[in-house]
Amino acid sequence: AGIINFCANNYLGLSSHPEVIRAAVEALEKFGAGLSSVRFICGTQSIHKDLEEKIARFHQREDAILYASCFDANAGIFEALLTPEDAVLSDELNHASIIDGIRLCKANKYRYKHMDMQDLEAKLKEAQKHRLRLVATDGAFSMDGDIAPLREICQLAQKYDALVFIDECHATGFLGPNGRGTDELLGVMDKVTIINSTLGKALGGAAGGYTTGPKPLIDLLRQRSRPYLFSNSLPPAVVGCASKALDLLMESNAIAQSMAAKTQRFRSKMTAAGFTISGKDHPICPVMLGDARLASVMAEDMLNRGIYVIGFSYPVVPKGKARIRVQISAVHSDEDIDRCVDAFTEVGRKHGALR
Ligand code: PLP
Repeated sequence: AGIINFCANNYLGLSSHPEVIRAAVEALEKFGAGLSSVRFICGTQSIHKDLEEKIARFHQREDAILYASCFDANAGIFEALLTPEDAVLSDELNHASIIDGIRLCKANKYRYKHMDMQDLEAKLKEAQKHRLRLVATDGAFSMDGDIAPLREICQLAQKYDALVFIDECHATGFLGPNGRGTDELLGVMDKVTIINSTLGKALGGAAGGYTTGPKPLIDLLRQRSRPYLFSNSLPPAVVGCASKALDLLMESNAIAQSMAAKTQRFRSKMTAAGFTISGKDHPICPVMLGDARLASVMAEDMLNRGIYVIGFSYPVVPKGKARIRVQISAVHSDEDIDRCVDAFTEVGRKHGALR
C-alpha cells in the first residue's frame, strides 16, 4: 500500500485505463479465450486483421503483421529477409532480441559503435560489396534513454543504398508530435523502411509485437517468418487491449503530452537536486550512480520510502555505469513525481550520491 511504481514500461498508463480493460473483457467474451492455433491454420479472427490494419494506419505504412511479442518479431525478420549475399549493420547497443534475430540469419554482420555515424559510414562502405544492406537500430535505447540519430542514419542509408530498420518498443505511442515514434520525432517517416514494435509497453502493456512496412515485405514474413508460422495466435483479450489503446492514441495525443510534461518535471527537478540523468526528454530517466552496490542499496532505500525503482548494473549495463532507471508514466501525478524526487534527494544525501 502506498508504493508508487516508477519502473514499468507503462509510459501512457494505458494498462490500467478503464476503456482498455473493458475492450479486453468484451473481446474475451465475444471471441473466446484463445484460438488454439497458429495464424495460418485457424488462428486468424477479424480482430487480428483489424488490428494489423490499425497498426499500419497508425504508423502510416502499407501493412503490418502481428507476433506473440516484439522479441518474436525481431527473431523472425532478419532470417526471412536477408540471404548470405546481404549485409546487416547493427548498433552495438541494440536490444538483445535484435542481436538474437541477427544471429539467426546468414547475412554478413557488421556492428557499428553506438550511434557513431563515422563508424556506420565506414561499415557501409565496407558493405558495398553485398547485394543488399540493412541498417538496424533501436529508435530509443532502453538503458540510457537516448534516441538514435535517425536523420543522419537515413542520409547515410540513402548515400550507400541501404534500408533502415528501427525497433520502436520505447517510442511507439509517445515520441513525436502525434506519438508515432522516433521516425516522426525526427521527420523521417518516409525514409525508414521497417518498424518493429511491441504491444507490451505503451500500447496497453499486455503482450504482443509487430512488424509494419511495405506490403511485399509483410507478405514475405507471412510466408517465411518462423515465430509467426510456428507460434500461437495472439489471444483475443490481448488484441482487444492493443486495439483500444491505438484508438485512444489516434483520437488525441493529450495522454502523451501529459507524460512529456511529467518527464520534464522529473528531469529538471532531479538535475537541480544534484543528480545526473542520462538521455534527453525521454521518459526513461536513468539516474547515473556508477557504483553497482550504491545503485542497489539506494533502490532498496527508495522502496522503504514508498518508491519502487530498480538498480541496473553489470552485465545489463557496462561496468562502472550502474544506475537506477526511473520510468515516468502519464498516470503519475505531479505529486507522485515530487514525492519521488524528494525520496531520491533524501536517499542520495544519505549515501553521498549528490553532485
Ligand atoms: N525490443 C526492445 C528495445 C525492448 O526493450 C523489448 C522489451 O524489453 C523488446 C524488443 C521485446 O519486446 P516484447 O516484450 O514485446 O517481447
